[in-house]
Amino acid sequence: MGRYTGPVCRLCRREKNKLYLKGARCFGAKCPLEGNYHIPGMHGPKKRPREKISDYGLHLREKQRVRRTYGMMENQFKNYFVVAKNQRTIPTGDKLLELLERRLDNVLYRASLAPSRTSARQIINHAHIRVNGKRLDIPSYIVKPGDSIEIKPKARKINLIEEAIKSPVTPPSWMTFDEKNFKVEILRIPTISDIDSTVNIQLVVEYYSR
Ligand code: SF4
Repeated sequence: MGRYTGPVCRLCRREKNKLYLKGARCFGAKCPLEGNYHIPGMHGPKKRPREKISDYGLHLREKQRVRRTYGMMENQFKNYFVVAKNQRTIPTGDKLLELLERRLDNVLYRASLAPSRTSARQIINHAHIRVNGKRLDIPSYIVKPGDSIEIKPKARKINLIEEAIKSPVTPPSWMTFDEKNFKVEILRIPTISDIDSTVNIQLVVEYYSR
């Protein structure tokens, strides 16, 4: 699966929103969005803010914002949309956000066991994680209620993890985090109200439904 390897702050500047892709830096004064910034590209510094964005542009920007927040490539993100669309239990947008939240890399990030979703993927890929007592190295694994996720004892001293635990991120109510044992328990499936998000997910649904 391909992944974006360029400078990540550029993505935030493009979306004119903090996407929290760089861990502790995102909460400090070093974040470019805390000062004067311009959108990336050759004409970025000169570009005047447009008074009116087209309807297509509005939908596209929102889709890109969600996709980049969760660190997905286009095809992968679209696959989640197709799964969400093909179920009939809850609205498509709610299901899409639910699936993204339930990814193992996102769970690690939300539980403050990793400073960013990218770091979480690295931790998982390097097999530092056990899910229900078994080694699991698939960042896209979808967690379910009752799952327990823990950092292997040998990996608990990794700087990335130690620093993440000190971060100001509070785990959401659909999971518990046992800081002493580096263990997360999934209590229930997250709902749209659990997801701290300013995202207008309906715009994303409409973007793919055109
Ligand atoms: Fe985005 Fe974080 Fe970079 Fe700020 S520091 S621009 S929030 S990735």
